[in-house]
Amino acid sequence: MFGENMKPGRPEVIEPMELSMEDLYLFKQCPLRWRLSKTELHMRERTKKEELADKAKEMIQWYYTRRMEGLLPSYDQVKRHFSDLLYGGKIDSRQVMRMQRVKPERGDIVNMEQKLIKGVLEMVGRDRAKEATVVAVSKKYRVKISDTLYLTGEIPVVRDVEGQIELVWVKTSFSDASEFYYLTDMGLTFLQLAWNSVKKQPAQRVVVFDAVSGKERAVIRSREDYKRLVEIAKMTEAMIRQNLIMPREQKGCNSCPKRMLCAQWKGWKN
Ligand code: SF4
Repeated sequence: MFGENMKPGRPEVIEPMELSMEDLYLFKQCPLRWRLSKTELHMRERTKKEELADKAKEMIQWYYTRRMEGLLPSYDQVKRHFSDLLYGGKIDSRQVMRMQRVKPERGDIVNMEQKLIKGVLEMVGRDRAKEATVVAVSKKYRVKISDTLYLTGEIPVVRDVEGQIELVWVKTSFSDASEFYYLTDMGLTFLQLAWNSVKKQPAQRVVVFDAVSGKERAVIRSREDYKRLVEIAKMTEAMIRQNLIMPREQKGCNSCPKRMLCAQWKGWKN
């Protein structure tokens, strides 16, 4: 069937790629920062804002894990734990309490810490008043997007509120969320996509908890919305496979931990 020059070659095997939601966010923010964060010598460093955001997430994870274990931490326990996380226990819980009220004196970082303390305590207050059972905390998912791509991420909190499953997303960004954010954010879509991939049906509610303002808001995510996330993931995969990785200069470059390396970048050798 095949002539001398037409021997069938082995089909090229494409190694499946695994991208995390964090990869997608970072790649969208700046492809070069994403690439530099992946190299062994220059592991991902965090900006001060990102470190604070991680601590707020850790705090929320701690609170909901206790709730899942059937415990209801008191305000004092919450403040003490937050003090440990933020200040290594150097500031006691009463000072944490006072920090909610005082005006920032040490600039932006204190201002951010205060906002997070206030926001998380508001969340705790609201949660304590709710008739909810915590079903899962920081639940990890790996969703097959195609034969060559998997998307990974986690659902911060799953609650059962009066028989309705609620997926909770924690927003730790210090910029105000716009209507556009609530309509399109990839992380919110991932919650439903991941839940749907395992349970074969969407959860009844997706809720955004804003750790900075302390507010909660329900958003809609349907199967139609999955398409946007899937397309973004596939396009990111294609760009990585083709090494279409370039710097994306922006306002945030001044605080980017990779800016010195980035300044030396002159293109890829191959
Ligand atoms: S300094 Fe700016 S352009 Fe360079 S890697 Fe960082 S975010 Fe990207």
